[in-house]
Order: sequence, then structure tokens, then C-alpha cells
Amino acid sequence: MKSGKKRKQEILAKRRAKQNDVLLNPYEDMQSLPEGTIRADHKELSHNNTYGPLPYFYIDKCYICVDCKSEEMWSARDQKWWYEIAKGCIDSTAIRCFSCRNIIKAEKDQQKSHMEEKALEKPHPNKSFLQKLDRNKRKI
Ligand SMILES: [Zn+2]
Repeated sequence: MKSGKKRKQEILAKRRAKQNDVLLNPYEDMQSLPEGTIRADHKELSHNNTYGPLPYFYIDKCYICVDCKSEEMWSARDQKWWYEIAKGCIDSTAIRCFSCRNIIKAEKDQQKSHMEEKALEKPHPNKSFLQKLDRNKRKI
């Protein structure tokens, strides 16, 4: 008879083996991929909690920027970075061009620095007293 601890280890080992089987990319051992593609590493995509299929390779995709309506290309290399290194969700895609993303980033940076400035600002010593006076004036 096996101990509970040993049994549990066996179950976990089986589960891990099964998980690796599911994550195995059928293109993993293939020498040739379609031209202009980059192989996907399913172990790096394991953060996606999906029952749906994972990509076997990345290929350059065209999209239209939602802000400036220009036609852009999302390169296979950038997709690999987004999905496997930045750990982006597998359902997410590029929607804005580089310059539109930079505009949004600059606005966010400006807001952030403004809020940091405001946080460091010393409140007026009589601020609450002055607010009360203001409220009283309005009542009169
Ligand atoms: Zn744009």
C-alpha cells in the first residue's frame, strides 16, 4: 500500500506530464515553417488561461489604427514580444500605430507628473477654515 504523500506526488507528476502534452507545439520539431513566420513557444504562452487554440507561429498582420485610420503592420517579431515576453493576453491585438500610442503615453506621463506635483504641494494652513468661511458666505 502506498502512502498518501507518495500518491499525491504521483498524481501531481501525471498532471504535469499531461499539461506539457497539451502545451506541446506540433511545429516544435518541424524544420520548416511557412515563410516569414516566427515559431511560437507554447511554454511562454502558458499564462493564457484559455481552452482555445494557441498560435503555432506568428506572421505579420495588417491593421487600421483606431485613431488616425492609417494602415499599419504588426510584425511577427513584435507579436512574439507582446505575447511571450510582455505576457499579453492571446486575444489582444495591436489597434494603435506607434505615433498614436506615443501621444497617449505623453498625456499619461503629463497627468502622472501633475498628480505627483499636487501630492508634494503643501496644503494651506487655513485651508479648512477658509472653506468653512466660503460655505458660510454662500448661505448669506
Ligand atoms: Zn494612429
